Amino acid sequence: MYKGSIYIETFGCQMNTADTERAATGLRAAGYQLTQQAEDADVVLFNTCSVRARAEQKVFTRIGEVRRGAKEPLIGVMGCVAQLEGETIFAQAPSVRLLVGTRATDRLPTLIEQARAGARRVIDLGERQAGEEWAVSPAERRSKHVAFVPIIEGCNKFCTYCIVPYSRGRERSRPAVEIVAEIERLRELGYSEVHLIGQNVNSYRPKTESGLEGHTGATPFARLLRAVAATGIPRIKYTTSFPRDFHTDIVQAMDEHENLCNWIHLPVQSGSDRVLRSMRRGYKVSDYLARVEAIRGAKRRYALTSDIIIGFPGETRKEFKDTMRLVEQCQFDSLYIFKYSKRRGTPAAKLADIVSDNEMAARFVELEALQKEIQAQIFSAYVGQTVSVLVAGESTRSTVDVTGHTTCNKVVNFPGDVSLIGRIAPIRVTGAKAHSLYGERCEI
Ligand code: SF4
Repeated sequence: MYKGSIYIETFGCQMNTADTERAATGLRAAGYQLTQQAEDADVVLFNTCSVRARAEQKVFTRIGEVRRGAKEPLIGVMGCVAQLEGETIFAQAPSVRLLVGTRATDRLPTLIEQARAGARRVIDLGERQAGEEWAVSPAERRSKHVAFVPIIEGCNKFCTYCIVPYSRGRERSRPAVEIVAEIERLRELGYSEVHLIGQNVNSYRPKTESGLEGHTGATPFARLLRAVAATGIPRIKYTTSFPRDFHTDIVQAMDEHENLCNWIHLPVQSGSDRVLRSMRRGYKVSDYLARVEAIRGAKRRYALTSDIIIGFPGETRKEFKDTMRLVEQCQFDSLYIFKYSKRRGTPAAKLADIVSDNEMAARFVELEALQKEIQAQIFSAYVGQTVSVLVAGESTRSTVDVTGHTTCNKVVNFPGDVSLIGRIAPIRVTGAKAHSLYGERCEI
């Protein structure tokens, strides 16, 4: 029975995108129609992100815009901001009548019913219930070729600058049998690439061994990688990995299976042991370098990418230089550099000795320039090589080019048309730009 139209606007990370896909699955099954326009909708949901204060503010701006529209939809806030801020959202944005936490996505249809039946305020910030599904209907997936598959949610690490353990709760791993079955279904549907996602995928630790048979001495994540590789899906990528839990058996599993793509994202955050301790990351620079050495010693070349936070409270000029040295040593294929931004509710927010905006900006420019040099060398080494590109769509910068990703997660543009979308094409690289490669189709 048709119950009305729903618009969902998603902010933030891949986990939020995956949650939106799952929410849409449940809502459609309950009789709702998903719409792409907020103005047409009976219900408008904002799936929110709290990692940065700015993303949080943007949600309130959007709520105001929707409220001023011609129709008066039921407005709900779901995701991290709902979980963290709770009822204060009702006070801050009185037009919001529904709050749905990060583990209550599957209960959305019932919660919406309650609000539409007249309840003034509906709020569910509870835990995931036994038997609730992680599965997503193919119809709700954003792409017909690349699928996000959550394998773990939450985080137990409590880095001092991060709000995620508070918004997403403790780590919960999805049963391996379920993950493998979902990927088998995706392969049958013609998907070429899956991304195993989670705040820390390599902290994967399911309650049962089921689906992880074989390689019993290895860590659960390495065993999961082997099980997923055995489905035969052409490409498997995973993000994000936590350095302390990145054991050598992960690289061994990747070396054994070519469909485990040659890309590893391993956020280091700082090159100073003191700063890492203050961030409560749980590893030292030497531990991180040992992981990099294992990756570099592997049978294949793995593209290695990372995240750095500069200007963490108390970071001295010398400690920043230690980070520069680490970046030089690691030779990352790309690097996401973040200026430290204070997050209310985290232990780091109470730290003194704030790095000034000017100093932060100067460090950013310095690190960016170093990474640019490293990246230019790495990217130019691809010229003349043939890479395999999964075509995602038309290029936004040219009317004659299409764009896609390599197995090492580099963007490649090349002349082609929309008929190639979804196909894996061999591309000879003819040029390298700062953040992408350019090439031409070739036969192999
Ligand atoms: S590992 Fe640290 S940075 Fe990553 S989600 Fe957990 S607390 Fe946040």
